[in-house]
Amino acid sequence: MAYLKIAEGCNRHCTYCILPKLRGKQRSRYPEDIVAEARSLISSGVKELILVAQDTTHYGSDLQPPVSLSQLLGEISELSDEIWIRVLYGHPESIDENVIRTIAEHRNICSYFDIPIQHASNRILKKMGRNYSSDDLRRLFDNIRASIPDVALRTTTIVGFPGEKDEDFKKILRFIKDICFDHLGVFTYSDAEDLPSHRIHHHIPEDVAMDRYNRLMSSQQEISSKNNRKHLHKIYDVLVEGTDKNNLFKGRTFFQAPEVDGMTQILSQQLQIGSFVRVRIEDTFEYDLAGKVV
Ligand code: SF4
Repeated sequence: MAYLKIAEGCNRHCTYCILPKLRGKQRSRYPEDIVAEARSLISSGVKELILVAQDTTHYGSDLQPPVSLSQLLGEISELSDEIWIRVLYGHPESIDENVIRTIAEHRNICSYFDIPIQHASNRILKKMGRNYSSDDLRRLFDNIRASIPDVALRTTTIVGFPGEKDEDFKKILRFIKDICFDHLGVFTYSDAEDLPSHRIHHHIPEDVAMDRYNRLMSSQQEISSKNNRKHLHKIYDVLVEGTDKNNLFKGRTFFQAPEVDGMTQILSQQLQIGSFVRVRIEDTFEYDLAGKVV
């Protein structure tokens, strides 16, 4: 598995984020450079390419002539049928129909959308400098699920943002329950004096933010367990990545990104690390799965 950086910098102005100040405006790499790097990674045996940037779905708009993420994905997809391609850090405002269609149409592009929403209360989204509403988000996720029924959805949210009232928190809690994300990352707001959000009134005490964090996480635990149960007895390609502390092989399905999502334990005597195997899921847990090679 290798991360493939497709752009550096960000043109957005989220009030809690220092990255545009540190890294500057978005500068996309030329598609031919990215494709050449992808080709070389594949020849060296890499089986999964993970496209990353601060705002991946905005890729290429700064190039002359502009290039889109879907064009880039199409070109990388041509390189090999024996790999997975995954996109992380999509932005709700820049995911368009072409990206959704390209992911739906290519077997080697994981049906996996990582779209950090950060919140679902319109009041807080505005304070965060995120230019979409809760309804926009619902439409986006409905549209993705309608286009790719077996898609995996991941998002991240911030709780305890300055000015977040209990009613705002209830909106994000409701939203998470309604959408039933396969994976959720929750962060408590982290303040710094040079952030625009520092000047927003009514900072939230740490214990209140932690309480909201725990409530959101425990709600997601139930959702993840339920989501995982739908994989029971199904057969998936799993990329073998190593062994765990009990010497059992472990790997990931297309709906499990490295480092952030769960993993799949694989019952087998001998497996080659870095290969794909077909696994029937025989047990499911809150975040992980277990199965046998078929
Ligand atoms: S889109 Fe991401 S990187 Fe860009 S300003 Fe917002 S949080 Fe920061």
